[in-house]
Amino acid sequence: MSTGFFSHPLCRKHNPGPGHPERPERLAAIENALQTSPIRERIIFRTAPKATDQDLRRVHHEGFLEEVNFLCQSSTYFPSMEAEVNAATLEAAYLAAGAGIAAVQAVMKGELTNAFCAVRPPGHHATAHQSMGFCLFNNVAIAAAHLMEREGLSRVLVADWDLHHGNGTQDIFYDSSRIFYFSTHQWGIYPGSGSADETGSGEGRGFTLNRPLMMGDGDAEIVAAFEEELKPAMEKFQPEFVLVSAGFDAHALDPLGSLSVTDEGFRRIATATRAIAEKHAHGRLVVFLEGGYNLEALGRCVCDLLDVLSSYSHSRK
Ligand SMILES: [Zn+2]
Repeated sequence: MSTGFFSHPLCRKHNPGPGHPERPERLAAIENALQTSPIRERIIFRTAPKATDQDLRRVHHEGFLEEVNFLCQSSTYFPSMEAEVNAATLEAAYLAAGAGIAAVQAVMKGELTNAFCAVRPPGHHATAHQSMGFCLFNNVAIAAAHLMEREGLSRVLVADWDLHHGNGTQDIFYDSSRIFYFSTHQWGIYPGSGSADETGSGEGRGFTLNRPLMMGDGDAEIVAAFEEELKPAMEKFQPEFVLVSAGFDAHALDPLGSLSVTDEGFRRIATATRAIAEKHAHGRLVVFLEGGYNLEALGRCVCDLLDVLSSYSHSRK
């Protein structure tokens, strides 16, 4: 049993344009940090496969997929995604979604205890109908839908600690009692959603939990949200699998936000999330890269995250 690292060299080929923060160097920064880290010895590296159209259709509408294919083939600026797109973008996006499918399959089979998907473009802003905020396909939602429809699970937690609210993931599962969506995010910035009174609708009422944070908030506030809000909620929900939208743009050094989470804060929320997976879900945990735009902080925090994931794997051997 061990920790997997899913990525693909072509995820670096998507270039959203000059000066864009969601740049290919983000994945290089993670791989460079891992090169010099002893944690590398504890990780199993896997090459991500492409998702199929059937995988994507569990979350995204057919018309949207046709539009995305057309726009990427014609190489253009995609306003809602806020990024330039071309054929390499489309290839990277299919691999980003495919990484998540392969990771959850490997964990369900017991080949891996848990896994991290170092992929781009990120996913959590993409809705069923629309790409948004640097995201083309909603990678974490596609993995969650796979777990429900192909693996037969009925309770999956998606925890999202990105700086920004994962409006797409929330929207896709807002009416569902099978996916519990939890998010910490800076209040008052893009995309504008994620207030505490957004709790789900219909059968999904009570299965969305938003904990907006205020400018300047840091380790104490984000750790409290995971320890004092998410953990008790999971005692009731009892997830069978835990997925994470892991952005590192809530870091104090990040250029996009005004939160002040430190390396240690990220380590603590990763540890809290791992504990939830261990207690309720046989340790099953797959983490997706979302944002994080300070390259040094990103590299360090991903190494710390892999340390937390693989420590669990080792303790269970
Ligand atoms: Zn973000």
